[in-house]
Amino acid sequence: MHLDRRALVLGASQLVLLAGLAPQRLWAGQLQGYPFTLGVASGDPWPDGFVIWTRLAPKPLDPGSGMPMQAVQVSWEIAEDEGFARIVQSGEAFARPELGHSVHVEVGGLRPARPYWYRFKVSGELSPAGMVRTAPAAGARVDRLRIGVAGCQHWENGFYTAYQYLAQEPDLDAVFHYGDYIYEHWSQRVCPKVDKQPVCVRDHVGDEIYSLDSYRRRYAQYKSDPDLQAAHHAAAFLSTFDDHEVDNNWANLIDEKGTPPEAFVLRRFAAMQAWYENMPVRKAQFPRMQDMLAYRRLDYGGLLRIHLLDTRSHRTDQVCMDGKRKPCPPDMHVSRTMLGDAQEAWLDQGLGREARWNLIAQQVLMAPFDRRKAEETLANHGTDNWDGYRPARARLVDSIRRHRLTNVVVASGDYHKHFAGAVPVRDEALDGEMAAVEFLTSSISTGGNGGPVAGVDTLLANNPHVTLFNNQRGYQLFDVTAERWKTDIKVLDQVEERGGKLSTLASFAVTPDRATLHRA
Ligand code: FE
Ligand code: CA
Repeated sequence: MHLDRRALVLGASQLVLLAGLAPQRLWAGQLQGYPFTLGVASGDPWPDGFVIWTRLAPKPLDPGSGMPMQAVQVSWEIAEDEGFARIVQSGEAFARPELGHSVHVEVGGLRPARPYWYRFKVSGELSPAGMVRTAPAAGARVDRLRIGVAGCQHWENGFYTAYQYLAQEPDLDAVFHYGDYIYEHWSQRVCPKVDKQPVCVRDHVGDEIYSLDSYRRRYAQYKSDPDLQAAHHAAAFLSTFDDHEVDNNWANLIDEKGTPPEAFVLRRFAAMQAWYENMPVRKAQFPRMQDMLAYRRLDYGGLLRIHLLDTRSHRTDQVCMDGKRKPCPPDMHVSRTMLGDAQEAWLDQGLGREARWNLIAQQVLMAPFDRRKAEETLANHGTDNWDGYRPARARLVDSIRRHRLTNVVVASGDYHKHFAGAVPVRDEALDGEMAAVEFLTSSISTGGNGGPVAGVDTLLANNPHVTLFNNQRGYQLFDVTAERWKTDIKVLDQVEERGGKLSTLASFAVTPDRATLHRA
């Protein structure tokens, strides 16, 4: 058996983690074109390193993305400077056909709280370079962190102009991606109709996706976007998934079409494998047949602890047939668990005062939200977000209060709206005491241009704990110091044509001693 030299130096146990055994059959021919069409990415920074990622795809939309069905050796470099004059680490990795020719390298042994640049090389071709910052050392004093939040990027609904702006934000430490990185829909499924014909900004390739190859091709299409690549090249992503990485509103082993669980689990596994292959995540998130460990913690010195949740894989089914069975009053919104028992206990155990701030980074709206319109007399709550899982929300609020925490910020997505508000201690007292503040980030493109919300006054009147509700596309920026948390709400004037203009709609500040929003 052939072992590569670096692997021998590292020893057998690290070998499996970092490089794996060298394949017996390595590709030695020429690739069919430039292999780095999907860009590069980094993720999950720790004080000593991070993951760097690429996926070789000379012909992104072709079968196998135009790659030979053999392993290909790829080299990588980490430098302390943009020009790669001071290379501090380098090595070899394998892009394997089993993993869609993706490459994940977990780099360690680096210095905390500083920028690094990385790139890959294969058969004489050089990838673009990405920049990534290591996290501060454990417990270290941190002056400031800047974390972007983004998600919901339906290819057909709009351009990714928001990412172009996010990529230019100065001093980005990381980007939390809350999910809906891809959508599973068939071509033209959700586009507005003109003369009864759907008209998309740009079309999905292919039918609804079920097989591993079709998920891979969908990621390849999305990842070919230069604005999305620019965002990845600018900062580490903290990646999770919501429903559309698999199927709309899936819940554990249940989809919304009533598919037998033993059939759905195969689709879910294909989707999770493709998610792993395409995201800059660590080996701990490697897909397994029956489940996957997607929840995890990331610490930024003594300033910020991020609890990254998985609200899909372990939840109980939505109530009222995903809200389709009416009436479905709030007292029926009692689906038992959003996180599953193990993750719930893990979150409870990890919520504490280790850091100045706790960020619960997750997918769906946590605060209660009555969506009723002016003429409606009955309350109207979602069933797919925490409103459908009231017992689970009550337990989480109880956990925050038991730990006597006033420094919890919740980040969420899914709604395709910007939302700033707070999670009340009791559902019955929406203007009473708050357990945490919540910032829900609007979509990058899903829903198209957006604009004024009809009846927004009714929504805000019925939800006094909600301060801002906006239907434009964009992202949010968390600017965090020990004294205050500031959130900028960034919106685009339009996304259905290129060249959209960005503005800051509003800014909010929070102090760690009280879960209350202030205009900033
Ligand atoms: Fe979405
Ligand atoms: Ca969703």
